[in-house]
Amino acid sequence: MSKEKSEAKKLQEKLFDKKKHLGLIMSDEEIKESFDFCEGYKKFLDNAKTERAAVKTAVEMAEKRGFTEYKRDEKLKAGDKIYFVNRGKAVILAIIGTESVEKGLRVTAAHIDSPRIDLKQNPLYEENELALFKTHYYGGIKKYQWTAVPLALHGVMIKKDGEILNINIGEDDNEPVFCISDLLPHLAAEQYKRHLGDGIKGEELNVIVGSMPFRDDEISDKVKLGIMSLLNEKYGITEADFTSAELELVPAHKARDIGFDRSMVGSYGQDDRVCAYVSLKALLDCKKEKVKKTSMVVLADKEETGSDGNTGLKSAYLRYFIYDIAAALGADGRDVISNSECLSADVNAAFDPTFPDVLDKRNAAYLNKGVCVTKFTGSRGKSGTSDASAEFMGRIRVLLDKNKVIWQTGELGKVDLGGGGTVAAYLANLNMDVIDIGVPVLSMHSPLEITAKTDIYMTYKAVQAFIKDS
Ligand code: MN
Ligand code: MN
Repeated sequence: MSKEKSEAKKLQEKLFDKKKHLGLIMSDEEIKESFDFCEGYKKFLDNAKTERAAVKTAVEMAEKRGFTEYKRDEKLKAGDKIYFVNRGKAVILAIIGTESVEKGLRVTAAHIDSPRIDLKQNPLYEENELALFKTHYYGGIKKYQWTAVPLALHGVMIKKDGEILNINIGEDDNEPVFCISDLLPHLAAEQYKRHLGDGIKGEELNVIVGSMPFRDDEISDKVKLGIMSLLNEKYGITEADFTSAELELVPAHKARDIGFDRSMVGSYGQDDRVCAYVSLKALLDCKKEKVKKTSMVVLADKEETGSDGNTGLKSAYLRYFIYDIAAALGADGRDVISNSECLSADVNAAFDPTFPDVLDKRNAAYLNKGVCVTKFTGSRGKSGTSDASAEFMGRIRVLLDKNKVIWQTGELGKVDLGGGGTVAAYLANLNMDVIDIGVPVLSMHSPLEITAKTDIYMTYKAVQAFIKDS
């Protein structure tokens, strides 16, 4: 026989804020929906391993839903679905709403670049009859995690005659992959004495790309010549073409389910393609008649290196695009921007029971507790954050509750322990209201980041609610 709840227990339930596991709150159907949703997400991850591939994939998905490329000065009307690609590495998608655009936009911004290993401009060399690439890592990585894992090569080369060569080697099971070697433990006594951060140094991230010599007795660098002659035969390139290239090495493995219960996704590049995917899906899945506020999804590049550069969100391209749309709809761009609301959709650190000391357990985000709403990021005394206002936090909180989106708060580590930022600050600097929301991630920036399917689904629902709410 169940006992009556005590008065204190009832009062506690009424007054305390206790976040529950989504597995205890969501219905069976909703959990199944979230698992099904992630099948499409995993495909996206496999097809969008670089910013260029993500733009291509996003545009293909958008065109299937009736989005067309927007050119400046083209007329616009409610219901129009448009996109704009910036240099093949960033894309803005929008649905024109029924309400005057001067009342503001609903902007959701995520980033599609992820930490990786870039090639240097003179990468190819031979040492002791092995051919290798010199590299320079991109974004914050723990370098030792990138050795002894299969890597695929992606990117573009611009040949002397201007021809653009797209490279994609190592994703197909029949193709070769590349690898950064590490020292065998038997001989690692000196390496073990290094600090973990120096376990593998930047200049040791050398990628093995070949070992067979060009058959000739006269010349040196026979293995390098063997590789160059292969590349020349296949792509018509010479060594100098590497100087005008952007070539990126990423883990060659595919996105997989994690756990006996398949409740999690393990993949490279979930920071921040998870938020990119849910934001894109939320916009594409909208019935255009339902969109009152003009809604935009920005998939940006260069977040992992600080958002500088013409495809990063410190660039003027988003502002220019908003001004163009404002002009096409007869509105003042300044009013449009100033009245806009923005979700900076990016991942946050999930509490890891193996490393409990780095997060304040009362303020950390947890797997399976819903979309993480982060009021501020930054380091030390909130340096580098836009810090959403209580008013905007309040507005988003009510919006999520109203739409039955389960959410939690999060922070990027204990005070003074580290920190980090997102694109939120650069959007807020335009004079929009901005808050960070996103999916909690384990092993962030590693070759195999882990997320929970229920959180991914709740983040999708959060962006959908934000777009549809008026
Ligand atoms: Mn991120
Ligand atoms: Mn990141």
